[in-house]
Amino acid sequence: MSATAFTFDNSYARELQGFYVPWNPARVPAPQLLFFNRELAAELGLDADALDGPEGAAVFAGNTVPAGAAPLAQAYAGHQFGHFAGRLGDGRALLLGEVVDRHGQRRDIAFKGSGPTPFSRGGDGKAAVGPMLREVLIGEAMHALGIPTTRALAVASTGEPVYREVELPGAVLTRVAASHLRVGSFEFFGARREADALRRLADYAIARHDADLAEAPDRHLGLLRRVAQRQARLIAQWMNAGFIHGVMNTDNMTISGETIDYGPCAFMEAHDPAAVFSAIDRGGRYAYANQPLIARWNLARLAETLIPLIASGLDAPGSDAAIQQAVAQATAVIDAFPGWYQAALLQGQRAKLGLQQALDDEADAALAQAWLDLLHAQGVDYTLGWRRLADAAQGQEAPLRALFGDPSALDGWLARWRERCAQEDAGDSDRPGRMRRANPFVIPRNHRVEEALAAAHDGDLQPFRSLLAAVRQPWDETPELARYGEPAPAEVTACYQTFCGT
Ligand code: AMP
Ligand code: MG
Repeated sequence: MSATAFTFDNSYARELQGFYVPWNPARVPAPQLLFFNRELAAELGLDADALDGPEGAAVFAGNTVPAGAAPLAQAYAGHQFGHFAGRLGDGRALLLGEVVDRHGQRRDIAFKGSGPTPFSRGGDGKAAVGPMLREVLIGEAMHALGIPTTRALAVASTGEPVYREVELPGAVLTRVAASHLRVGSFEFFGARREADALRRLADYAIARHDADLAEAPDRHLGLLRRVAQRQARLIAQWMNAGFIHGVMNTDNMTISGETIDYGPCAFMEAHDPAAVFSAIDRGGRYAYANQPLIARWNLARLAETLIPLIASGLDAPGSDAAIQQAVAQATAVIDAFPGWYQAALLQGQRAKLGLQQALDDEADAALAQAWLDLLHAQGVDYTLGWRRLADAAQGQEAPLRALFGDPSALDGWLARWRERCAQEDAGDSDRPGRMRRANPFVIPRNHRVEEALAAAHDGDLQPFRSLLAAVRQPWDETPELARYGEPAPAEVTACYQTFCGT
């Protein structure tokens, strides 16, 4: 067995024939490994030493298809900015296969940027170095923050140019995911009214993500509920981290509950519910504060596709009454989403506020909202605002006050917060430390990300590596990390734009 071997076990290829097109990655002229995630490789049971060199570069650029892989392009549809596109699919991605990791969890190994497929719709199927390294940085930051996410295993440059507005160096990203099943995967077969295909897909998703539901007659309703609950927790984590996904189309919403597809995403700097950075999101559909509403809208699209399956588990399946009952049950799940989201949000906010006890939900939610209103009113950096609150918990208020143009506006709120803290314990000496583990100092700030990618474009990977190391220790605050904690100059943030599909 070769040292670069993966122990593939390809359930998607085996069980879901008709849901993909077998397809090989394009050959590229000069593979070079720019990034390799040794920790993740070890988790996957791979030989990190063997892959961290030319042999790995050939594998991760797509030139050497590892033994046991069954590369394929997945079919999916999706609502993009609210409009249905019936045939999207892997236009520049391929699922190589699946590996069961050291914890017994099945993970997809997939390429992004590995060349055109039957789903490319005229696109070149390629990706550029910058956006793929960007996906590494943001994904690893999310992982370090404890937010469910797909992760980058490797980035290999191809030695081939890709043409966007300008010529860019090409790259292939290798991505690891709990699965690549999306809301859009269900929409593909739902739109074609292929009930049997939809059932196979749903049952595959259940076996993979919610195996305990497999025998239940109402398992398809159960699947919808689980997906909604996972998304409620995920979006709450995004909101508490100040993360803006940027392109929450239904094809970018997973069944697993992992964040996927780091395109025009960004972390917010000054707190602003209307913050939006994506150049193509002119209407602000995917603005920061809209994310929970959009998640619910996307889940309603999933619910629609599942109605026939939910009905088929009821008495007199196929009857109008069964359909009506299925609609009512699915609607109840969608209507429960805001409550699940609010509960997850509040749980995260309590941790960020240094609170451990769930005393009065309404009062605590109002306390958190009043704090966010203050940050917004004075344009305070979202991440630093929270972080400096941990200092205030330790009796150092000056760094917090310094973030506010009018610090006196803080007085009333701080008194309220202190009173609330005292309700659970007068002198909780753990609070500042706990708050620093809930409120990061280092996030991948937009200006640092751009700086690192610009250097990488010119062949210098050092800024990328330093930033990567920094975002992997988000809770620490050391002199070396200080430059990564500083907000971007306001002029930079004001014109910051992120781009999609590049
Ligand atoms: P994304 O915005 O990356 O989520 O992609 C949306 C859809 O566009 C997916 O079907 C992608 O496969 C496809 N796509 C994005 N970029 C390219 C490209 N350069 N070539 C072909 N298809 C692409
Ligand atoms: Mg996508």
